[in-house]
Amino acid sequence: MKHALITGGSGVIGSNLSDALLERGYEVTVIDNLLTGRIQNIEHNLENPKFHLIHDTILNEPLMDELIKSASVVYHLAAAVGVKHIVNDPLQGILINVKGSEIVFAHAFKYWKRVVFASTSEIYGRSTDIPFKEDGLRVLGPTHVDRWSYSTSKALDEHLAFAYHHKGLPVSIVRYFNAYGPRIDESGYGSVVANFISQAFRGEPLTVHGDGQQTRCFTFVGDTVRGTIATGEHKAAIGQAFNIGNNKEITILELAERIKKLTGTTADIKFIPYEKAYGKSYQDTRRRVPDVSKAQEMLGFRAEVDLDDGLARTIAWAREHYEVN
Ligand code: UDP
Repeated sequence: MKHALITGGSGVIGSNLSDALLERGYEVTVIDNLLTGRIQNIEHNLENPKFHLIHDTILNEPLMDELIKSASVVYHLAAAVGVKHIVNDPLQGILINVKGSEIVFAHAFKYWKRVVFASTSEIYGRSTDIPFKEDGLRVLGPTHVDRWSYSTSKALDEHLAFAYHHKGLPVSIVRYFNAYGPRIDESGYGSVVANFISQAFRGEPLTVHGDGQQTRCFTFVGDTVRGTIATGEHKAAIGQAFNIGNNKEITILELAERIKKLTGTTADIKFIPYEKAYGKSYQDTRRRVPDVSKAQEMLGFRAEVDLDDGLARTIAWAREHYEVN
């Protein structure tokens, strides 16, 4: 019997991953401190005898030892996630991301368990070597800019993963590119897609930071989850990192226009200086685009859901679940 432990399994990606693994016949245990993950994301599974929720922190080492011991694969997603969270509390972000992963890798190593570590496209920072290849450069700003602590903490986790792999741990790394989809948090905290949808529903202006010409590649969560499972199930993925994302690039201004159109809101688009959104010393990533060839060649994975379709599905979900809609 395949038994997956998902750390951070009640977040947007983790809860969709839980559903997909249950559908594939896995037993699923989720550990989540429910700080940014939400019980609503997984409550439909609570009666399922093959699903178990542990409400606790991954920093609880004896508990993690027990959970990892009884799993056949660990999907390690728990982290302080998103630039906005990190900028607001950089200390907590660094401690959770580094200590938590240390615990997960050490106990997986003890029991020789398969691990998939959820990393981020933030790893590449401000590199202009577009599209980002897995073995490409990382280019970061100075350490007094808190934003880069997220990239750095996740990169340290990746180094740890590779270091354990050199000792024999069967671990893979997935680097996510701006996942969005059903279950994105109404507060819009840490996701521009959620924020624009909430603003559109409220009839408030959609707040575009800077000149809106910065770009991202938004990836529908169903695709993110497929890429994650493909990584966990392919032997050849062991010891490798993969970009898991859509490679269709769009400016934030264009994203705002699309969400305006799809929600039918009459609200305007309003440009806001970065300082106002994130405080004085903030630096953004201007372009972020994955090279997706490695995942395609080694895992047979390619993102399939195009942005209009994904946004329409997300907006339809949000209409049913957001308080203001
Ligand atoms: N952004 C924006 N308006 C918002 C929220 C975010 O213009 O209300 C911008 C943000 O400055 C960044 C991009 O959208 O350039 C993506 O932000 P997000 O926080 O979703 O993720 P990131 O890619 O920065 O991790």
